[in-house]
Amino acid sequence: MMAMREYKLFIDGSLTDASSGATFESVNPFDQSVVARVARAGSEDVHKAVAAAREAFDRGPWPRMSPQERSALLKAVSDKINERSKDLAALEVVDSGSTIRKAKEDVYLSARSMNYFSKLAAIDHSAPIEGLGKPGFSRNVLVREPIGVVAAIIPWNFPLKMAVWKLGPALAAGNTVILKPSEFTPCTAMELASIIQEVGFPKGVINILPGFGHEAGEELVKHPGVDKISFTGSTKVGKHIMALAAGQLKKVTLECGGKSANIVLDDADLELAVDGAMYAIFYHQGQCCEAGSRLLLPRSLAPTFLEKLIAKTRRLRLGDPSDPSTDLGPLVSKSQQERVVGYIEDGKREGARLAIGGGIPKDGLLAKGFFVEPTVFTGVSNTMKIAREEIFGPVLSVIAYESDDEAVALANDSPYGLGAGVWSKDQDRARAVADRLRAGTVWINEWHLISEKAPFGGYKESGIGREFGLEGLYEYMEAKHLHIDELGSREKKTWYDTVVPK
Ligand code: NAP
Ligand code: MG
Repeated sequence: MMAMREYKLFIDGSLTDASSGATFESVNPFDQSVVARVARAGSEDVHKAVAAAREAFDRGPWPRMSPQERSALLKAVSDKINERSKDLAALEVVDSGSTIRKAKEDVYLSARSMNYFSKLAAIDHSAPIEGLGKPGFSRNVLVREPIGVVAAIIPWNFPLKMAVWKLGPALAAGNTVILKPSEFTPCTAMELASIIQEVGFPKGVINILPGFGHEAGEELVKHPGVDKISFTGSTKVGKHIMALAAGQLKKVTLECGGKSANIVLDDADLELAVDGAMYAIFYHQGQCCEAGSRLLLPRSLAPTFLEKLIAKTRRLRLGDPSDPSTDLGPLVSKSQQERVVGYIEDGKREGARLAIGGGIPKDGLLAKGFFVEPTVFTGVSNTMKIAREEIFGPVLSVIAYESDDEAVALANDSPYGLGAGVWSKDQDRARAVADRLRAGTVWINEWHLISEKAPFGGYKESGIGREFGLEGLYEYMEAKHLHIDELGSREKKTWYDTVVPK
């Protein structure tokens, strides 16, 4: 049993109560016990945090520190995440319902990502523009500069990882940041606040405001002192944020929802593809933006494939997420559980066949948690709600197809375009299919491999912009063209050909 924690807001280097004195409780989705009492940021707190970040960017030491100094601070955060890995993983389990196996991996990957971002911070990303100007005549430089004050808003499915994925590149680029974690999972972000204090960042560079989307979140998005919004969450909220940002033409990066198609070709290694399909949809109870939630099977192979898939799905163990033998923990919240159950009802109503699952476990140990059984619908048509909308739970929609062309058409017939996968023993054939898929990440005989070194993001309504790698870093930078005249004379000036008398 973990003792209940208390968390305050982190503003301008200090931990403080909300101006209103308001707090909220973060709950363990397994047993509904209170994990933490947390200060609830309101509009006054947002004003204070933005003022601190603004001051730190406009006049503070941070943007003027050397890249190496900034890099060393980020590296120190990575080291501290490693030092505290046990506590962070245990906390993630009770706050989010993540299994301990996933949480340990999350903490390890958070430290690894922060280490990578620390390396990006040490590099001067400015470079000469080749092929423009001549030596002795002019020089042209592409100067990359931070944008300013970044507001980062994150969801509840990978709380620590998401916090690092936002803070790392935003800081590596030299910005100052205000982070708002999800109301459902604020704890590990607040532990990061204490790490940041220990490491000794200049004050105001990082501010963390736990609170609610419609309060602190929306207030941040609208605040004129914020230059850029980096949001991960649902497409619905993403669209709302983009509309709010339009008034000031604020820069936005939006990492939103998905309905990723997982295509099994008729020459796939069946055992591998069955296991891969399970991993794609059931990892973290299906609460992954790039979950393989639409399984496309060749009609001829479907009966054999489904027999294996259903038999193996029956073996999945729901249970206490802190028990290493648990495969699936609870969903994050009661409302998420109700949402997923609502979609299961939609699937039944629209005539899909419920092959396994579909219910809420009634068993004593699980009854208090927000569980949903791993669920597979077969006979799904791509026009059904369970094929078009993101469910964000352990619900797989299986769609049969006749030809590779039809599989590609079905995969691309979606408002989303975040992830996709192809299973085949023939790499050339798989590659030919992968090249036709309109999605930001495509795996061949794999799933869920996301790296801080490779661009990640969505086509279509899955988002705008990319995270990770240089592509992701540059989303946090402005590009300045610097032209330097080297001649210093009136010669060769085009001014005289156009306007200015010689
Ligand atoms: P969400 O409801 O969109 O919330 C995401 C964040 O936005 C939360 O911090 C939320 O605050 C905040 N928010 C809500 N309304 C807001 C508003 N009006 N103004 C500003 N902020 C607001 O999403 P979620 O349910 O937490 O997460 C699940 C969704 O995230 C899924 O759709 C999933 O696909 C998506 N996701 C995408 C990626 C990706 O990289 N593409 C990764 C993970 C998840 P609260 O704390 O009050 O909820
Ligand atoms: Mg919680």
